Amino acid sequence: RSSAEKFEFQAEVSRLMDIIINSLYSNKDIFLRELISNASDALDKIRFLSLTDKEVLGEGDDAKLEIQIKLDKEKKILYIRDRGIGMTKEDLIKNLGTIAKSGTSAFVEKMQTSGDLNLIGQFGVGFYSVYLVADYVEVISKHNDDKQYVWESKADGAFAISEDSWNEPLGRGTEIRLHLRDEAGEYLDEIKLKDLVKKYSEFINFPINLWASKEVDVEVPADEDESSDEEESSESSSSEEEGEDEDSEKGEDEKKPKTKKVKETTYEWELLNDVKAIWLRSPKEVTDEEYAKFYKSLAKDFSDEKPMSWSHFNAEGDVEFKAVLFVPPKAPHDLYESYYNNKKSNLKLYVRRVFISDEFDELLPKYLNFLMGLVDSDTLPLNVSREMLQQHSSLKTIKKKLIRKALDMIRKIADEDPDESTDKAKKDVEASNEDDEKKGQYTKFWNEFGKSIKLGIIEDAANRNRLAKLLRFESTKSDGKLTSLDQYISRMRSEQKDIFYITGTSKEQLEKSPFLERLMKKNYEVILLTDPVDEYLMQYLMDYEDKKFQNVSKEGLKLGKDSKNKELKESFKELTKWWKGALASENVDDVKISNRLAESPCVVVTSKYGWSSNMERIMQSQTL
Ligand code: ADP
Ligand code: MG
Repeated sequence: RSSAEKFEFQAEVSRLMDIIINSLYSNKDIFLRELISNASDALDKIRFLSLTDKEVLGEGDDAKLEIQIKLDKEKKILYIRDRGIGMTKEDLIKNLGTIAKSGTSAFVEKMQTSGDLNLIGQFGVGFYSVYLVADYVEVISKHNDDKQYVWESKADGAFAISEDSWNEPLGRGTEIRLHLRDEAGEYLDEIKLKDLVKKYSEFINFPINLWASKEVDVEVPADEDESSDEEESSESSSSEEEGEDEDSEKGEDEKKPKTKKVKETTYEWELLNDVKAIWLRSPKEVTDEEYAKFYKSLAKDFSDEKPMSWSHFNAEGDVEFKAVLFVPPKAPHDLYESYYNNKKSNLKLYVRRVFISDEFDELLPKYLNFLMGLVDSDTLPLNVSREMLQQHSSLKTIKKKLIRKALDMIRKIADEDPDESTDKAKKDVEASNEDDEKKGQYTKFWNEFGKSIKLGIIEDAANRNRLAKLLRFESTKSDGKLTSLDQYISRMRSEQKDIFYITGTSKEQLEKSPFLERLMKKNYEVILLTDPVDEYLMQYLMDYEDKKFQNVSKEGLKLGKDSKNKELKESFKELTKWWKGALASENVDDVKISNRLAESPCVVVTSKYGWSSNMERIMQSQTL
């Protein structure tokens, strides 16, 4: 078209499209789920706007918040249409090609190593999956603030945008037209489409309708048929039984106008999904399998793994809400990146079933941003702006309850994990199948999200003790496994008052440390901390169950009573004095007789209130 404006895809997007087009990835089905998810997002957006301004919805069909799927077998086109918010010309240019999302390059990289396209939606580039099945795509869109436009591309590095003067006006919303590749003909099969919608889009909260064909019997007067040829062909398409019926009719009364039944294909909208929200159902009625599927659609995580845990509850009282929380099977690729960039939580907020936002800081603290889920509140007001909602007093109560439930849910993973049990008898009992599934889950949780728990201790003073219960460490006695603080305490020697720990770069380095010599000899257990964040953690974790934490590389280590100490101090008085004089005072504060060594003659320790040497190292390299 001569009036079309041409644009080039941003380089990274272009690369992504090349990879998709040439991909040998066999599960091409995912494009439909991505398009339906985009349609649903667009519907959520217009519904949200309509809360404060009813006019935006328009009238008649335009006000129907739905998704429609249609197919044209002859032209090999699949249509997916929504009555969502639509896109202005500028939106089309930005969203579909010129502005790369942060996940684009991360996804390109992942594709090159794994070739697995399934997680495309998580990276914010799901739209481009259309090129798995189509070689030419049109996006027709109408936003309330602009005219109707057509975006089109053959994925050859460029796309075009034209003002739409030839298609039927959409009213509002977006229609995607996929001109299917020859080998993607299966997506013109209604049964296939129905199956896919069932499988992938079960939890979409808007009706999804398919323009479905239906064979119906119609009676046509036989005498009106002019040509006998036609008569024969329609008779042959009807079933044998009916043929017999007609024969007998003919026999009974030859003068009656002859009628006969023929099959005819008609079309009508067929609703494919059940839009009852899972979180409104009673937790007792929802099966584990349904929760797992719900998690997948919520998180756009279509890997084979199930969520590690979930919690579905109904809060009553002053503030009423329903919530479902999930611990994902794996940390997302950018979890800590987004933590430091203050990324908001992954919870979706609904008010009386209407989706409000998935960028609501006020629902969960930052350190819990790895959780997925949603909150639906009846107490919050519907017809106010997002900003006003953010200040609503109920949010504090909701947040408090959510944290409590989230920490309970995490603790449950540990409680149900047979590996975590200190009860030897219980461990020895033959594990049931269910136990098998739960075995090792907490270690898995810890490896994926342990750092978040540590950040929580730093961030959330009110829940510090609850979080400390969730901590796991390696220690000189943990035998390569993880230990909890409770387990550590249960093994403490009777005269031991403090919890001992040491920080460093690796377990191997720490185990050789002279600081441990005497402690090991005396059979004390020492926690080994090797994560850079541990140094910060220990500045906030002062005590646990009335026991203080003692860094064994710092001054002031007390190992119970040591009667010889006083004598030694006296007899080496002259030597320590000499040493102190010999070492420059800006390098050492003091020289003392130590009771912490067994083999090494001397050791440099840091002062009680200063940074440990490990912390000095971290501060210098800023490797947190
Ligand atoms: P994501 O959905 O994660 O943002 P996509 O690649 O699926 O990433 O879509 C890119 C963007 O294109 C969306 O964020 C949205 O702004 C826009 N978009 C896609 N489909 C539609 C649609 N049906 N209606 C309105 N906007 C859409
Ligand atoms: Mg999307």
